Amino acid sequence: MRYTFFTKYSSIKKEELYTKYTKLLNEYGKGLFTKDDDNPEYVFSFGGDGTMLSAIHEYMFKDDKIKFVGIKMGNLGFFTDYEVDEFKYLIESIINNNYKENKYHVLKYILKNDKKDEIGFAINEITLINPIHTQIIDVYIDNNKFETFRGTGLLICPPTGSTAYNKSLGGTILDPKVEAFQLTEIAALNNTIYKSINSSLVLNKNSVLTLITNDSNNIYVSVDGKEHQFNNIKQIQITLSDDFVNIISKKDTIFWKRVEKAFIK
Ligand code: NAP
Ligand code: MN
Repeated sequence: MRYTFFTKYSSIKKEELYTKYTKLLNEYGKGLFTKDDDNPEYVFSFGGDGTMLSAIHEYMFKDDKIKFVGIKMGNLGFFTDYEVDEFKYLIESIINNNYKENKYHVLKYILKNDKKDEIGFAINEITLINPIHTQIIDVYIDNNKFETFRGTGLLICPPTGSTAYNKSLGGTILDPKVEAFQLTEIAALNNTIYKSINSSLVLNKNSVLTLITNDSNNIYVSVDGKEHQFNNIKQIQITLSDDFVNIISKKDTIFWKRVEKAFIK
């Protein structure tokens, strides 16, 4: 089995971590694992959910069969199901095929200006924000004008991102098995003159969401918590992609238990 390691820790800690886990992998792995950074079957991510997001962006499109494995060194653990002291159990689980594959659909977005299109993918969300001035964004669902939004911005997420920034904004938590995506407002201006729906919308998997901005020089785009540079955005088109990311977890891990653990107790 070909594998690679991923972390966001800087050099000394990273070196220490990789040395330790390479040794453990050799000890528990029965000689079945070989390091292959260019063409891995398993990507072991050491860190939090944010680290896993970076690992996915780095490796997902090398091969759609890659399995992502999160060793939890962060706080919540939506993408990182294995504790540091469960590494032996994890390696044995991989050898014995004793794990669950969670195939999460990602969002596909196309950013457009007069000159070019740029296609990208989001696991948690894409946001369009202007924290200083009111953004005016025309919202189209399947080519029908729905509303003109005014406010700080909009967030669009697949079910996997629904427990992240989306939740902080009052968006709905979606079970990742629901094939849908969500549009959530960020500080909408609602008064006697301006109106937006003022509630998050869950769109079906075949929907096409088109957002047209009329202040394209001042819009700020983030994808999975990272600033995304694209000049003079005129339009963004968003759909649920057929592509998915494959994150493995323990067989008995239940999504709603994880939600309960993260937010209730
Ligand atoms: P960060 O600022 O360290 O992350 C914020 C928190 O979100 C961390 O506790 C992170 O967990 C958690 N998180 C990430 N993905 C999650 C998910 N799918 N469900 C539940 N919680 C999740 O930045 P980061 O670690 O690079 O993560 C990027 C994400 O932060 C963005 O995609 C966005 O969703 C989120 N964010 C949230 C807010 C907000 O709620 N106001 C604002 C900006 C960004 P770990 O500690 O395990 O990494
Ligand atoms: Mn983080």
